[in-house]
Amino acid sequence: MAQPTDPDRAPNPLGEVAALVDGGDMDCGSGLLLLITRAMRRLEPGQLLGVRSAEVSVVTDLPAWADLTGHDVVTELAESAQGPWWFAVSKSGASTRPGTVFSQGQRTPVGRRLWVYTNFNCNLACSYCCAESSPKAVARRFDPAVATAAFAEFRPQGGREVFFTGGEPFMHPELGALVAAGTGLDRTVLTNGMIFHRGTRRDILENLDRDVVLQISLDSATPELHDRQRGAGSWSKAVDGIELARSLGFRVRVAATLYDEDPQGVEALHRRLDDAGIASEDRVIRPVAQEGFATEGLHVSLDSLEPEPTLTADGAWWHPVAVTNPHLRIADAPLPLSEVFGVVRDTLAVQDAAARSGREVFRCA
Ligand code: SF4
Repeated sequence: MAQPTDPDRAPNPLGEVAALVDGGDMDCGSGLLLLITRAMRRLEPGQLLGVRSAEVSVVTDLPAWADLTGHDVVTELAESAQGPWWFAVSKSGASTRPGTVFSQGQRTPVGRRLWVYTNFNCNLACSYCCAESSPKAVARRFDPAVATAAFAEFRPQGGREVFFTGGEPFMHPELGALVAAGTGLDRTVLTNGMIFHRGTRRDILENLDRDVVLQISLDSATPELHDRQRGAGSWSKAVDGIELARSLGFRVRVAATLYDEDPQGVEALHRRLDDAGIASEDRVIRPVAQEGFATEGLHVSLDSLEPEPTLTADGAWWHPVAVTNPHLRIADAPLPLSEVFGVVRDTLAVQDAAARSGREVFRCA
């Protein structure tokens, strides 16, 4: 992915700058905004940020961003009429947060909810997996010590909820320690419900606190659709997993992921969950996002997704469905969490200010 670059090592026509962002062909709606927001947070007032992009929309969008955030574009150059374009932006001494951040609809305040990818390997390889997980995927396991440090930062910042997802979390041998690190928070573990029936994974399950919610995937009332999307035999094991978890005293939430609107299929699933005694508030029906393995589904971008900050072993991301999308990467490491939330807040502030002023700063198509 495009990265902030060491200005001493990268040739640029802007002269001396404190940091340089080479955005490649990114525009503000496809990742450049996150890069420049992150880089600008590291500068002192008056220092210069150099920005390069081959995407023509930056000619209007970058000055608009600078205007909204109070920074000054002091130099603008083009290598040719077709670009690429270079900008030197002087960091403002004032706050770069114009207006109220939490002004829109049902937005969860940044800092309240956190996602953790426990690992990326999985016993399944579902056709729509946004994380590109499979039995062959590199595990990229989250370290319990990093989780402990992250949650220690998270709680005083107003942290309330943490969701553990993957990959299949029960393939992480230290899942119990990861979840225990979040004690005191509202904790949910997302699982396909297939591999914790016996052995050491059963031990991990039984040792989890009973205030941990298990969100188990079940795409249909009968095996056909679920097995087509997730693999032969997966439906019956998931159903067994739901029953086992409930018999052990866990609250179980059932989540279905669907490509198409299928009212009859959804109705049949609701009837089955009624019969199983799963409360209506413990049912999640969500569309496939066109991310990872999914070649069709809901298109997601910086301006169409409300942020749900997400940590992986090797970075931080705007949303859990976008952890294979380099344009929605916030940071190259999960810590410090203050940096992750800071980039998200600053980006939201620009989005809100742009919406209020009627300007289109983010082009997603
Ligand atoms: S969607 Fe879930 S169960 Fe399926 S491959 Fe991805 S992580 Fe595994």
